[in-house]
Amino acid sequence: MKYSYDLHIHSCLSPCGSDDSLPSNIVGMAALKGLDIIAVTDHNSCGNSRAVDKLGNEYGVLTVPGMELTTAEEVHVVCLFHNIESAEEFSEYVHSKLLPIENNEAAFGKQQFADEDDNIIKTEPLLLINATEIPFDGVYDIVKTYSGIMIPAHIDKSSTSVLSNMGFIPPDSKFSTAEIKHIGYKERLIGENPYLNDCNIITNSDAHYLEDINEPINFLELREKSIDCLLDTFNKKYIKGR
Ligand SMILES: [Zn+2]
Ligand SMILES: [Zn+2]
Repeated sequence: MKYSYDLHIHSCLSPCGSDDSLPSNIVGMAALKGLDIIAVTDHNSCGNSRAVDKLGNEYGVLTVPGMELTTAEEVHVVCLFHNIESAEEFSEYVHSKLLPIENNEAAFGKQQFADEDDNIIKTEPLLLINATEIPFDGVYDIVKTYSGIMIPAHIDKSSTSVLSNMGFIPPDSKFSTAEIKHIGYKERLIGENPYLNDCNIITNSDAHYLEDINEPINFLELREKSIDCLLDTFNKKYIKGR
């Protein structure tokens, strides 16, 4: 079966995310648009994942717990998890690796934890968009210990991507799925980076505002609509013709 997806969406917990991007509004918007599978991936935190998960069950949208991790090299990596507990444990670990710099709301925006009923529970004091102490080459194994997978984010972006910040895809990388911002660049990127030949290539909205969440325009072929099936697919090398 083919399922529509958008696996890179920011909530009001990301300083750059809209204050209107409450979990209820994101999942409600996804349901309205007819998306099958979404992931809320805030910068360096899974703090709103639990609320998103509850709402996903309510609205019939499969919600994958996630985060957009910033590595020590300021490379963005989407990390997805099998369940909330693992995501929250990873989130705690990442928090311990954040630079101890406080957020300045006036300069960067609010970082709000919300519940499924639109209540703001608390705010995150440390600035979440900073780099962590986690190096890119350590992400795969660390995320794996939390039963998660890594997907280098918007690799064609001119900043905060593996290609922009490291210049190339390290040949000893282990990831099997990569995110491209402009899917039209796919063939060119694969041509320039043979590592991508064996990768599943996905594209997401990276929405910071509700209206930017994707319409059901991108699809994944999955045996069933489940997180296990999705992550198993992303974890396997891409085989042409599959
Ligand atoms: Zn990013
Ligand atoms: Zn993002």
